Amino acid sequence: MRIAEELGLRVSPRLRVVALTGAGISLESGVPIFRGEGSMWEIPEARRLASRAGPPWNTRGTWEYYEWRRGLVSRCKPNPAHYALAEMEEYFEDFCLITQNVDGLHSRAGSRRVLELHGSMWRGRCLECGRVIELPETPLKALPPLCACGRPLRPDVVQFGEPIDPAVLSSALAACRSAELFLVVGTSAVVYPAAQMPLIAIESGARAVEINPNPTPLTPFMSLSIRGRAAESLPRLWEELLSSASA
Ligand SMILES: [Zn+2]
Repeated sequence: MRIAEELGLRVSPRLRVVALTGAGISLESGVPIFRGEGSMWEIPEARRLASRAGPPWNTRGTWEYYEWRRGLVSRCKPNPAHYALAEMEEYFEDFCLITQNVDGLHSRAGSRRVLELHGSMWRGRCLECGRVIELPETPLKALPPLCACGRPLRPDVVQFGEPIDPAVLSSALAACRSAELFLVVGTSAVVYPAAQMPLIAIESGARAVEINPNPTPLTPFMSLSIRGRAAESLPRLWEELLSSASA
């Protein structure tokens, strides 16, 4: 049976779709994960640099750590899963991409509206005047980079224990409540508030599809779980959904 039929969905540009992505989609582009086996914590240099990063986050030590990470990410490329999500945004009139990633790969793949729950390593934020400034170049000319007001910027990344931007969070939750199809890609979504999002969507009536190489705590709640790499499985799913739209 076709997937759309199986899910009981009519695919058209009016279908309301939300996608939630996490570290798994970036890992397939070579972006190192931050914790666990094979993560950057196993690299002594990363641990040394990370130990110098800390509140108030607008220091040279923090930026040395972020510049190291920005340098790694700048050598990575978006993969076919990132591009499939950018195509979906073009096709669906009401499409919302929510990511836990801070690497900017969705934007580089052409996604225009991305709700970045944890911010972006390609922006700085001023603790003094609140300005948010794009910092697309790496390496930066000076560390820490300075705001227009002359004060040092901090990375515009939500650090562990810090709250998510309320405007970003409320947009994401509103999208979850109105979704008809919810895609969970490369995340086990165990971290609040991302963990809630698929469940909110499902309670509101969405059909949920997970793409992950391994079962996750969300698997029992899914309408469909696809075991595989996002870079292969997501473009295939997208092609399959599109083919049922034109049929
Ligand atoms: Zn400022």
